Amino acid sequence: MGKLQDQALLKHSSYWQGNWQSAERSFNVTNPANGEIIGTVADATAADAEKAVAAADTALSDWAARPAAERAKFLMRWQQLMLQHQDDLGLLLTLEQGKPLAEAKGEIAYGASYLEWFAEEAKRVYGDTIPAKSNDQRIIVIKQPVGVVAAITPWNFPNAMIARKAAAALAAGCTFVVKPAQLTPLSALAMAELADRAGIPAGVFNVVVSTDAKAIGKVLTEDPRVAKFSFTGSTKIGKQLAKQCAGTVKRVSLELGGNAPFLVFADADLDAAVDGLMASKFRNAGQTCVCTNRVLVAENVLDEFTTKLQQAISKLKIGDGTYDEVDIGPLINTEACTKVDELISTAVTQGAQLKCGGKRQSDNSLFYLPTVLSKVTNQMDIAQQEIFGPVVALQSFSDETQAIQLANATEFGLAAYFYSRDIGRIWRVAEALQYGMVGINEGMVSNPTAPFGGVKQSGYGREGSKYGLDDYMDIKYLCLGGLDK
Ligand code: ADP
Repeated sequence: MGKLQDQALLKHSSYWQGNWQSAERSFNVTNPANGEIIGTVADATAADAEKAVAAADTALSDWAARPAAERAKFLMRWQQLMLQHQDDLGLLLTLEQGKPLAEAKGEIAYGASYLEWFAEEAKRVYGDTIPAKSNDQRIIVIKQPVGVVAAITPWNFPNAMIARKAAAALAAGCTFVVKPAQLTPLSALAMAELADRAGIPAGVFNVVVSTDAKAIGKVLTEDPRVAKFSFTGSTKIGKQLAKQCAGTVKRVSLELGGNAPFLVFADADLDAAVDGLMASKFRNAGQTCVCTNRVLVAENVLDEFTTKLQQAISKLKIGDGTYDEVDIGPLINTEACTKVDELISTAVTQGAQLKCGGKRQSDNSLFYLPTVLSKVTNQMDIAQQEIFGPVVALQSFSDETQAIQLANATEFGLAAYFYSRDIGRIWRVAEALQYGMVGINEGMVSNPTAPFGGVKQSGYGREGSKYGLDDYMDIKYLCLGGLDK
């Protein structure tokens, strides 16, 4: 780790109450590109998580009472520090997560953009007045922070998934405790170091790193001092954690798995569609919840589209994310590779055709070759489960009705994409798709001005946009009576 310009960004333990906290045991963080150990981190326990929650609880009243403009200033200082250290934070992220450096730095800027956005939104938490039924009363609505927020985040966006929750929570006046994924704790700890440097008061932003996700999760979902729980991760774990939250009736936001369809209609600009698909499929080696999972192409343009797509794929450079011009880094671990292998081999047994890729670069590496499978059907596992790898699974459709029916035939509803140049069709299909987000002639939809989130079993709650603070605020209705003389 000699390459960091600011070595103090490499931290080795959890952070709460404004202090770095030791633990009895520790665990290693490894680089998926080569298996090297890049850091050793203290392994927090459930008792530690309780202490972090206590710190957030103690800090709450002071933080919530500050004027929004003051909280905004802290967020802006934090944002500026993240951008100042973008190179180091990006490198750290590539080393622990694997994505190419340019993407990693992009994630830092993306994470920082949520801090900026919510610093601004903090100043616009408007209430309301409602005409009362009698002259004797006035009805007023105010918004207040929900309280202590706990979050659990995944490894695929080690910075941004924390930034976009913490930014909204802190802007709203809540204090925050996060358990990052154990595979990528270093980015989270570097964020805590910068929060500290930004002067964010002790106990407002806390990070608990641990290998015991279950035990920490139990505290964060069951402790009565936590008012709101926000989770990004798999649908299976999200459902479990939502149940755990029921005991104390916490507010819950869930951003879970997706099964994004990417529809290419016959009237589409096929070159633009290929570009959009490349961006939405291969970003982070296919390991994002909004990555295209199923590609549905009008049957009369399927051959032409497939040829163009394979040309684009043949140009992808796969390798260690710290090397120049790499487009695709390693998958996160061996289990991820095995899962992709199994989905592909099962699909081939069921009649899909492997056109390229279908295996790792070499047996022991985690670099998975960009893969194209044709003749996939919606019933196959590969079309129903999140692939989380660089695999294009091609299906075809005969008309718009069938395209929509296939696109919606999943329990998930996070992101969908489609390409068409017909304005009537664009409107019809956009309304018919049962998804929280729809990219229309666009393969990348995430940005802080827009509400990110899903429907169906992809979860609920929205991150970013003018709606993003709602998840962290309670509405309080004040009825002012006795006004008659
Ligand atoms: P992924 O497939 O992306 O790893 P997970 O849902 O397993 O998705 O993990 C997302 C986050 O949830 C990680 O921080 C992980 O440590 C955490 N996690 C996994 N299992 C549990 C659990 N039983 N309780 C609490 N957190 C969990």
